[in-house]
Amino acid sequence: MPELPEVESVKRVITPRILGATIQNVTFSDKVKIGKEVGKETIIKGTTLELFKERTEQFKIINVYRRSKYIFMEIEKESESKIIMCHFGMTGAFFTVPELSNIEIENHRKHWHVIFALDNGLKLIYTDIRRFGELRALDELNEYPSVLKIAPEPFVKEAYEHYLEKIMSKKFINKPIKVAILDHTVISGCGNIYACEALLRAGVLPTRIIKDLTVNEREKVFKEVVNVLQEGIDNGGSSISDYYNADGEKGTMQEKHLIYGKKVCGQCGGPVLQKVIATRNTHYCPNCQK
Ligand SMILES: [Zn+2]
Repeated sequence: MPELPEVESVKRVITPRILGATIQNVTFSDKVKIGKEVGKETIIKGTTLELFKERTEQFKIINVYRRSKYIFMEIEKESESKIIMCHFGMTGAFFTVPELSNIEIENHRKHWHVIFALDNGLKLIYTDIRRFGELRALDELNEYPSVLKIAPEPFVKEAYEHYLEKIMSKKFINKPIKVAILDHTVISGCGNIYACEALLRAGVLPTRIIKDLTVNEREKVFKEVVNVLQEGIDNGGSSISDYYNADGEKGTMQEKHLIYGKKVCGQCGGPVLQKVIATRNTHYCPNCQK
């Protein structure tokens, strides 16, 4: 599942290829069309397919940015402006290619769902094998209020204070620390992989209840989340199994993982244990984490 570093990598790959281009037309796969007909909202959410086209076709892409695990594209037509919002779910990906047939990874080529034909000769193609991702064409961000609740980007100054305030609130104080750091209203963009890695580096067991953590431990957890997310970005994200960033590129952060997906702890060499916390399979080291 793409987390903050993977989504940042996607943004960095696609931005120079789509910025300034105008979307000439938008095409949907049969799965998307049928999904809409039966009310399943496959990938295109919040609008009809017709309205999605109306809000995107002939619009120029004037800005591309990431917030948490979302990519936003600001688009403009004369004085009108809209926002395309993308979330990659489990297996979503973007490709920027002249034609669909130029996507070399068969599984992605086969599972294309939305094609934005651009006036620069490229197509921005959204592919998604498991179809948990989503694209929305918004009039403004207020139309999708849950985005407004996302915590500040972990790298900005306010993020730490925001995190402290949230974890000490009634909602989280009696919860395991792992549950809190996976919540994007607490820290933005930290999913399962980076949460496991950060807790190992902080030396804190994922099951520890927040109210029992020392001030030092609370701080350490936050710092390590920021560190692993930054390390993830610097390494182009983690590419696990058939995950690709954009245009079939792979990151190398998985080579730096010390605990996630490991049998042996990368810090002490002891056995890695697993436990399901908040529906997510958690990897931890009982020797390094207390
Ligand atoms: Zn260890």
